[in-house]
Amino acid sequence: MTTNKPPIVRMQKLHKHFGSLHVLNDIDLEITPGEVVVIIGASGSGKSTLIRCINGLEEFQSGLLEVDGNLLKPMGKSTKALQTIRTEVGMVFQQFNLFPHLSVIDNVTLAPIKVRGQRRDQAIETAKRLLARVGIADQANKYPSQLSGGQQQRVALARALAMEPRLMLFDEPTSALDPEMIGEVLDAMRELAKEGMTMVIVTHEMGFAREVADRVIFIHKGEIAEQGAPEQLFDAPQHERTQAFLARVL
Ligand code: ADP
Ligand code: MG
Repeated sequence: MTTNKPPIVRMQKLHKHFGSLHVLNDIDLEITPGEVVVIIGASGSGKSTLIRCINGLEEFQSGLLEVDGNLLKPMGKSTKALQTIRTEVGMVFQQFNLFPHLSVIDNVTLAPIKVRGQRRDQAIETAKRLLARVGIADQANKYPSQLSGGQQQRVALARALAMEPRLMLFDEPTSALDPEMIGEVLDAMRELAKEGMTMVIVTHEMGFAREVADRVIFIHKGEIAEQGAPEQLFDAPQHERTQAFLARVL
């Protein structure tokens, strides 16, 4: 990506510990608006922790993190910046985390009404449009338990989009899905990428990564070991750790 827009995420020398465990070690990362970044790495390497830092779900011990101009400080408590970031950054998790007692439409309209103060009729109209966009317009009045995993994950995506996020984070969004449902979720994400959404995606779907990513980042033991365009990283990895990892997963 060659643009001179200011980065939407700026992480500098970020360190994160869980007790004595040094989970993120000196992470420098800038993400440009419109960029699609895929993060890969072994289990336990710090991928989830890294993206959870970006929307303030995890605090960090030192370094700098700025998201869309909002500065998060180390060990930051509940600041104004944190609240702003949480409303501007959408997240989709491996477990869909839908509210089981709410219908699909209520899951999608809840935050826009409660957090954004949107009018109910307006929130419903937006929700219907988003559900149609992810291919489940006909499921609006069902409850999560009545849907397949792939449908639930697309509701989770519509719910995040309803907040008009500036940035979307995905943490292994297809890892909990039966194989036949992975494609429909990846299709919805592919569309979103095409429309220019800024996305950070942790995934083990290497074919998808190669296809949608502007940049792939390989994390090893809490450090960015290597990063580059997908063809560079997948076809000509430089780092021995990247080579070993790819040999196992490809
Ligand atoms: P990944 O997503 O790459 O599998 P994580 O970011 O979930 O890795 O975890 C990185 C390391 O931090 C692992 O060793 C994990 O056990 C540890 N970890 C993650 N969350 C916590 C937590 N809340 N408390 C203590 N250790 C944690
Ligand atoms: Mg993880």
